[in-house]
Amino acid sequence: MSRVVLGDNKITQKYSNSHKGVDIGFKGGNNDYILAHSDGIIINAISGKKNNLKAKGNETYGNYIKIKHYNGYYTLYAHLNEVFVKPGEKVIKGQKIGYMGNSGKAYGKHLHFEVRDTKDKRINPTKYVYEDLPKLIILYQTYDIKKKKWLPNVIANSNNYAGNLNNSVGALYIDSFIYRVHDLKKKKWLDYVNGRTTYAGNKQPIDGIQIKNAIYRVHLKNGSWLPWVFKVDNTNNGYAGILGKEIDLVQIKTN
Ligand SMILES: [Zn+2]
Repeated sequence: MSRVVLGDNKITQKYSNSHKGVDIGFKGGNNDYILAHSDGIIINAISGKKNNLKAKGNETYGNYIKIKHYNGYYTLYAHLNEVFVKPGEKVIKGQKIGYMGNSGKAYGKHLHFEVRDTKDKRINPTKYVYEDLPKLIILYQTYDIKKKKWLPNVIANSNNYAGNLNNSVGALYIDSFIYRVHDLKKKKWLDYVNGRTTYAGNKQPIDGIQIKNAIYRVHLKNGSWLPWVFKVDNTNNGYAGILGKEIDLVQIKTN
């Protein structure tokens, strides 16, 4: 039994070079809820499409949902009858996100399920129909203002941190996560960045960090480690740092 369709179901069409997903059929009844494979954030949630055997490109998916997971992978759920979620919404493993259907290019009611790697490339999803996604190594690095250079990447876990004691951090690069920094001189939050599309920061001192869906903390220059932060919001616990105080070390845990 799969973890993406509630109730009795099985794979009805396998993954191949010409079918880069698996189809999961249901065995009757009304247990045709589609479930989020793992915790993540909704990237796409398309609705309003009907069955269309002449559909091409993304239209073949009909109503579909795409989720970005915290290891950087994506899952995609196509041909839905109904979509319960919206882009930007956080979902948890097993959450009901829609109903199975036959929208788009579908010969009958089924779920077309895809798994995509961190580069959004479709991979064989067969084992992930039943299992967790792989745990990826998340790397991150900081820009050292005093040395005027990027420091080496470190692995996100509780043993490592990025930065040099007493040298201010001016920018941040993190794999997979969505994050932003607060510019001390400009006294404002800079734009969020996603993964390594670009870095966060102006290579000027920063005094706050927000990383969505990570556990993180910072060390103050000439100070100490501040408490771990588990969320991102406008409260004092919703970011790491104390505004007006420079940061010299950053530490990130992924779970
Ligand atoms: Zn399919």
